[in-house]
Amino acid sequence: MTATVSKQPLTSANYYSREMDMQYMSVSQFKKFVECEAESMAYLNGEIERQQNKAMQVGSYIHAAFESDDAFNQYIKENTDIIFKKNGSKYADFEKADQIIETLKEDSFAMFAMTGEKERIYTANLFGVDWKIKVDNVNPEVGFFSDLKTTRDIHQRFWSNKYEGWVSFVEQWDYVLQMSMYRKVIEESTGLTLTPYIVAVTKEDIPNKAVIHFDESRFQFEYEYVELMLERIVQVKNGDAEPIGCGKCDYCKSKKKLNGTIEVGELIYA
Ligand SMILES: [Zn+2]
Repeated sequence: MTATVSKQPLTSANYYSREMDMQYMSVSQFKKFVECEAESMAYLNGEIERQQNKAMQVGSYIHAAFESDDAFNQYIKENTDIIFKKNGSKYADFEKADQIIETLKEDSFAMFAMTGEKERIYTANLFGVDWKIKVDNVNPEVGFFSDLKTTRDIHQRFWSNKYEGWVSFVEQWDYVLQMSMYRKVIEESTGLTLTPYIVAVTKEDIPNKAVIHFDESRFQFEYEYVELMLERIVQVKNGDAEPIGCGKCDYCKSKKKLNGTIEVGELIYA
């Protein structure tokens, strides 16, 4: 592999920067490209910014709580205005987040599944592109890594075009793809084949929880899927193909100009 001297090294400080997103593919970038090429390119070109929504802010807060006391205190310090009301009490979403954190802390199995080195970054060249990943917990001594996910209901089902059937939130949000790619990047980068787990916790009135493992047969499907989709994504990202808009995301809606009608039956397949 060749490295260009002018390239900046990937660090936790620049991990989420546009520059690093240009240099590397990541699972979230891949998912964004599959959703909408036009939005992805507009972001990479600096035409649009991406804002954290409420659910993402709450997710970061919960993540920070399990990363370390320092990370949690730092997050609270930097986000005081979104966490606290004027009267000093927390907004409902963050009250709920505290309950979710408590739920996990009271469960020794869930806590064990989250032991390891936090927010570890790895890179590897796979399917012809450089990937970057940042893993919630890596525990090479025991042989696993894990990612914490908050969701509405762990038993909720979704219709999936990708899997052509009913799926759980894990497939719906492409967490199988994420864990498969993490596993492969870690393997390529360290030589260790670690077992992925998702630690899931819900936002229900009484939070539910589960530690989820993966049948090995699931990984190959995701690798084939990534390889298949990546060819087009790389072409678009390199400027060798025109990005296509999904027609449904905020970016596409903001650019939308009507020039005709749509038949009723097309609405749910568009
Ligand atoms: Zn779009």
